[in-house]
Amino acid sequence: MNESSAFLSRLVIIGGGFSGACLAATLLRRCGPSMSVVLIEREGYPGRGVAYSTECSGHLLNVRVQNMSAIADDPQHFLRWARLHYDRRIEPHDYIPRRVFGRYVESVLNEACEATAARFEWKQDEAIAVARTAGKAEITLRSGERIVADKAVLALGNFPPASLRFPGQTRTGARYISNPWPARALHDVNLSGNVLLVGSGLTSIDVGISLRERGFKGKIHLLSRHGLLPQQHRSKASEPWQVFWDHTSPRTARGLLRLIRSQLRRAEYEHADWRSVIDSLRPDAQKVWRSLPVQEQRRFLRHLRPYWDVHRHRVAPQIGTMLAADLGEGTMEIHAGRIVEYAEDREGVSVSYRDRHSAEIRPLRVHHVISCTGPDSDVWRIDNPLLKNLLQEGLGRPDVFSLGLDTAEDGALIDAYGVPSDLLYALGPLRKGNLWESTAVPEIRAQAAELALQLVSNARELDNALTLGNLSPV
Ligand SMILES: Cc1cc2nc3c(=O)[nH]c(=O)nc-3n(C[C@H](O)[C@H](O)[C@H](O)COP(=O)(O)OP(=O)(O)OC[C@H]3O[C@@H](n4cnc5c(N)ncnc54)[C@H](O)[C@@H]3O)c2cc1C
Repeated sequence: MNESSAFLSRLVIIGGGFSGACLAATLLRRCGPSMSVVLIEREGYPGRGVAYSTECSGHLLNVRVQNMSAIADDPQHFLRWARLHYDRRIEPHDYIPRRVFGRYVESVLNEACEATAARFEWKQDEAIAVARTAGKAEITLRSGERIVADKAVLALGNFPPASLRFPGQTRTGARYISNPWPARALHDVNLSGNVLLVGSGLTSIDVGISLRERGFKGKIHLLSRHGLLPQQHRSKASEPWQVFWDHTSPRTARGLLRLIRSQLRRAEYEHADWRSVIDSLRPDAQKVWRSLPVQEQRRFLRHLRPYWDVHRHRVAPQIGTMLAADLGEGTMEIHAGRIVEYAEDREGVSVSYRDRHSAEIRPLRVHHVISCTGPDSDVWRIDNPLLKNLLQEGLGRPDVFSLGLDTAEDGALIDAYGVPSDLLYALGPLRKGNLWESTAVPEIRAQAAELALQLVSNARELDNALTLGNLSPV
């Protein structure tokens, strides 16, 4: 053991998608030699996760380049990188392929590793359990290795879609694809048949694009309870709308809806774009969410969420144009309702659904049914050994809606007794129940910067002490 290693403070980040990689890079930029950062990711590359590991060139970012920097205090960083490494003609308002962003995040981490005085270790493994031992977090990996950490951050991200069960469906059905995200998930889909995508949000649109890129010629049916498709961005950014939410605004779901509607009417009257109204809420979205009492948050989730989601999570203009063409030509059709019968045979699947508007039962005949309901966020249902272990051991508890884990203001996990942890933290989509807006890059990089500052302050004291010679090695 060399002299400095006696003082090492070890931070372990579990999950190397955007959240984990962004936090690791932020820490490395801020840390001195007393810090060691370990990033554990079970898949191949850092910074990819579900969103940016796609190889499909038609999967575009749904946020403009100018808002996708991984560095909180350098908003133009991604734009500069994209011009240098992807295409020098990129404009700030462009939407570019997600796989390019994955490469960018990896390069941000690599640069931080090269420049840092701290130690960095990348481990390709899966964390399956965490225990508290002598004031530290002991993390067990699937390989059997154990790592002791002074602090550990869970950046577990987006979980695979829930495996849906329909009336009449058997478990063994070969024509039902429960998770469309793995690289080869769509390879068996008959390219000249028809498919039914269950869900009509961003995941369905992604799957439709993947199928077309593979040469799929059939018809794509989209079925969801409300039958709503995400709206599309404008190709040029709209003028910002004035901030209209403040601490005196209504604290009810209905009151908020009225407030937003009145602003939308004003925007229409003033020939402004409705998107600006929605976007003007974004910086305050976490405050708005947290200002609502739990029963009002529940009302929002039950009644308003689908409408909020399609207006807030919009697709790039190019994708909007493609969807409009598909719908116009009849190669894509949207249905609103619930599946009431599912029967699979050797040639395909017969599905019946109850139409939301007419209550009629309508049949569909397709070759494959693909679950596209987006990331599962019911922590009781999610099949993740680490999450199960945390809940079983009482080191974490679900938030009130079980959308993720309950966390304190600073991201510390709240344990089964309601006590905030001094060892374990969460970052990114796991905090959705507490913060609502906790899934996209602009929010995650801000969260990562705040968390890094807090995690680093102890290490900085150590670094200062080392520099001043106030500590002697143990
Ligand atoms: C399809 C899709 C497209 C998106 N597009 C955009 C976009 O264009 N712009 C935007 O701002 N946001 C977008 N998002 C939102 C997205 O959530 C964030 O941008 C960001 O990718 C979240 O990163 P994450 O690291 O928290 O989660 P993830 O990307 O899901 O990464 C989590 C990682 O943790 C790993 N992991 C989980 N458990 C363990 C374990 N026990 N041990 C080891 N490793 C583990 C997983 O393998 C995974 O790589 C998109 C999301 C999806 C799903």
